[in-house]
Amino acid sequence: MLLLVTKDGVMSTDRSLARCSFCGRHASEVKHLVAGPGAAYICDECLQLCNEILKDPAPFSPQALELASRPPVVVAAPQTTPTPDKESAPPALQHEPHRVITLEVEQKQQGMTLLLQQLCYYAQDFEIHYLWIRPPFPAGFAFVPRLIFSLHADTGAQWAGDRGGMIVARTDLGNDPEHTVYQGSARFRPLPEPEVKQLLVRAADPLGQFETPILPPWEFEVHIP
Ligand SMILES: [Zn+2]
Repeated sequence: MLLLVTKDGVMSTDRSLARCSFCGRHASEVKHLVAGPGAAYICDECLQLCNEILKDPAPFSPQALELASRPPVVVAAPQTTPTPDKESAPPALQHEPHRVITLEVEQKQQGMTLLLQQLCYYAQDFEIHYLWIRPPFPAGFAFVPRLIFSLHADTGAQWAGDRGGMIVARTDLGNDPEHTVYQGSARFRPLPEPEVKQLLVRAADPLGQFETPILPPWEFEVHIP
């Protein structure tokens, strides 16, 4: 059975939206599809390819480069959200933050806008929720595009990368054909110490390296009350 996490963190078994994050093929087009965190999936053929890459002693084999250069798969956000049934949902799925800090800070550059919406604190980790308004990714992008985050606290603590982040196209949030709203999150651990009052949030689009001019990282100073 395939499990899908909707934008409200509710598991559903709707496999119609499931597609391999590496090649973009739908469940009906592959033999097996393994579900990962968020809307990430991998099919049996892409797993096989990854195995071959692992066996190749060269650091950048042609297969690895081909895989890395595939365009991102963008998963459409579900249009209807099932009502969460808290009573019957397993405890692991009750993913409610115990603290939400509203950010609502935005920056524009080169025709794109990055809007940081919220910092959400969970038991073991925290997430940044963002909207990335940008020209639409071409259809058939075969890997999930991501923003890479780097966080620096005024206490000296640092976090890099993200764990289990996701991104979905929110076609319901805009009707401008030049720009699509992508909703994403990035997860970090451990939680910031209570002494942290200021967070420097930097976000980079890895594909921005190929833009002319190169897209510099976004930088936000976030105050934690
Ligand atoms: Zn695949």
